Amino acid sequence: MTEPRTISNRPATAKAGLADPATINAIRSCVHCGICLPVCPTYRTLGEEMDSPRGRVYLMRAVAEGRLDITDTYTRHLDLCLGCRACETACPAGVPFGSLLETARADIERAGRPIRRRLMDAFVFGVFPYPQRLAIALGLLRRYRRWGLQALVRRSGLLRRFPRLAAMDALLPEVPRTDFELPEFLAARGRARGRVALLVGCVQRFLFADVNLDTMRLLAAAGWDVVAPRGQGCCGALELHGGRLDAFRVRARALAAAFPSDVDWIVTNAAGCGSALRDYAHWVGDDAAASRLAARTRDVSELLADADLPLNPLPLTVTYHDPCHLAHGQRVRTAPRTALGRIPGLTLVPLADSELCCGSAGVYNVLEPEMADQLLALKIARIVETGARAVATGNPGCLMQIARGARERGLDLEVVHPVTLLARALRWEER
Ligand code: SF4
Ligand code: SF4
Repeated sequence: MTEPRTISNRPATAKAGLADPATINAIRSCVHCGICLPVCPTYRTLGEEMDSPRGRVYLMRAVAEGRLDITDTYTRHLDLCLGCRACETACPAGVPFGSLLETARADIERAGRPIRRRLMDAFVFGVFPYPQRLAIALGLLRRYRRWGLQALVRRSGLLRRFPRLAAMDALLPEVPRTDFELPEFLAARGRARGRVALLVGCVQRFLFADVNLDTMRLLAAAGWDVVAPRGQGCCGALELHGGRLDAFRVRARALAAAFPSDVDWIVTNAAGCGSALRDYAHWVGDDAAASRLAARTRDVSELLADADLPLNPLPLTVTYHDPCHLAHGQRVRTAPRTALGRIPGLTLVPLADSELCCGSAGVYNVLEPEMADQLLALKIARIVETGARAVATGNPGCLMQIARGARERGLDLEVVHPVTLLARALRWEER
């Protein structure tokens, strides 16, 4: 079911940072061939060696070997990296770029950040991974808009001085209600295939609650008993990609303990979360429950690709954008296309540069809005070339980023999760 995933040569531990002997070995496995350069979004945009995978590995090696301190310039080149892992897919030497980057970022966090960045991080890491705090923040945001404060702030020109706030402001055209209750259990219909548990996510549970409900219905229609365990917290993906490894490990252990052990699969519909879950085996390998959870994690498309679903025709021309953490992080490329291709009447057209990052990359579009905007412009241009009426992609960050790009350009383009299209075609009756 899962497409092959190369994890050989990954460092066994990063507790000692880049200087850890296993990590240095992994860094030294780079043979400087440059095959990764053409697939790297920042290198393609800036043409700067130090903003390429090879250049970044070179910088990491210098730090690991004690020839370079963690300077502002070093930090800048690593901050500009999207963590998209396209280089990992391309690399013939199996350099584990994703985990090296996470280790390098942990070193940077330990060395300390300037106050401006620390304030931004305090907001991002103090709100997003906490569902209750996120619900409060979304409630405040709803009031800010309802009371006309957003229009006032926009007219004042204040956002021009704070591009990161402007980026956040542009991402959410409507703030959904946060009191939606997902069923805790949905029984299988038709031929029973087993039992699965759904990761509801942090952003996903509020901003894409409909995708979670559609995921449960589709899985039930495919013959799976579906549980959405109450009390599950954040998977820690943001902290992992931000180099906050201690906080990430705490979250990973807690999440693994919150999931039942009697399920066949843990299902995710958010590529970033799924990638972090699969990485538990690497980062929290000493925790048996976390390792088990990692081994049983599957993207929803992997379970739906071969499902015999009762589907009505859906005449629509659709293209598909590969979320980096699905294509490169989890090596899942075929399953979403196969699942979409099962919808009668739907025409799936190829997207050039489908695996090139859209600029979302977790909170990258908020932290690095300029580069994110350039990548978004490229992505939108490619989507327009396809002539598709809808673009499907399985990650909340990509959905918001591409939808923003389409909105700002006045495009008549629907931006949807693949399960939304499958659910639209599904013959489903409430019982
Ligand atoms: S493809 Fe791999 S081995 Fe070649 S330069 Fe890039 S990271 Fe190094
Ligand atoms: S993770 Fe992405 S942005 Fe970073 S070096 Fe690799 S290809 Fe470039």
